[in-house]
Amino acid sequence: MKISSIQLHVLQSRLDTPFAFSQGWVDRRSATLVEIRTDDGITGWGEAFCQGLETPQIAAAAIEHSFAPLIMGRNPLDTETLWFEMYHRSRDFGRTGAVMAAISAIDIALWDIAGKFYNQPVYQLLGGAMRNDIQPYATGFYRISGQNEADRLAEEAIMHFENGFRAMKIKLGFGVKDDLAVMQAIAKAMQGKEVELMIDTNHSYGRTEAFELGHGLAEFGLRWYEEPVVPEDIAGYAELRQRLPVPIAGGENAHSLYGFKSLFEAGAVDIAQPDIGSCGGFTAARHIHILAQAFGVEVNPHVWGSAVAQAASLQWIAALPITHHALFARQPILEYDQSSHPFRQHLTEQPVKMDAGRVSISDAPGLGISVIDDTVNNYRI
Ligand code: CA
Repeated sequence: MKISSIQLHVLQSRLDTPFAFSQGWVDRRSATLVEIRTDDGITGWGEAFCQGLETPQIAAAAIEHSFAPLIMGRNPLDTETLWFEMYHRSRDFGRTGAVMAAISAIDIALWDIAGKFYNQPVYQLLGGAMRNDIQPYATGFYRISGQNEADRLAEEAIMHFENGFRAMKIKLGFGVKDDLAVMQAIAKAMQGKEVELMIDTNHSYGRTEAFELGHGLAEFGLRWYEEPVVPEDIAGYAELRQRLPVPIAGGENAHSLYGFKSLFEAGAVDIAQPDIGSCGGFTAARHIHILAQAFGVEVNPHVWGSAVAQAASLQWIAALPITHHALFARQPILEYDQSSHPFRQHLTEQPVKMDAGRVSISDAPGLGISVIDDTVNNYRI
């Protein structure tokens, strides 16, 4: 079997209501999808994760000009071989960011093809399912005006609770005072309810403010504090992890086993959060979770892409081993973004659905998705 075509689909849609996270205003949603076909007639889909402020054309260009010529005509089942070839070829200009997202998209598509070839879900090829469903958590609490939105965000918490969520991640990083006011309003709205809370500042603070916020939230019993400082400040992560009584999470801006090795060696995180659409796909995700086992670090994937990346994340999560095993061990939870995304729910025949507080994981071959051509055509740029 040989790779016979590699087609890119760059999708984008403007949002009716732009929203802010700590790094800026998001006014559109984008996705870089790759569709790889084989001479056997098998099609695989992959996605390069596109951050809120990222232009999807960067990963697309890396696929088109650097990686497609390299893998064309090759055996798509050679996932490990092709991953290292792509990584080595791009070492001097890649290793992180959109170039790694490009490798991720291709790798995901190759595993989708492998699953369809062997007639097995990807998790089976990864070694089997540790779980068949997962508890989702609501990622939300973005800003519509900026600061002073505590009351509206407390109402949003009630909405997520009423929709069945029992875990939520609050976007902070809008000034420590404003952040604390938001958390107090949400905690009051959730009083007496069994809800786990996490926070995510998207690296908006230096160590001093990051500590001040974490210290101010010590009483909230947070499950994690995500991206407290910039990803370059690995020593800052480690320092905060030593000083704060809150588990520190990060890794959506780290890539491959090499990037996570640096985080783990420094003792930077309690919880590693690789994104399958940017860490290097399934091949790298598996390297990273094995490395995390060796360092005793919990892994809880980051998921913010469209339906293709969500499906890939679910397949990985199915096969993700627990680092701290126990009879009643803490399980990973699924990031389930609640922000506006015009094409995510209509991109595949199998959009993510929450049922009785759980999201089930497909046991169909490959990623278990059928991409809807009309949606791809409608949003293609
Ligand atoms: Ca995040």
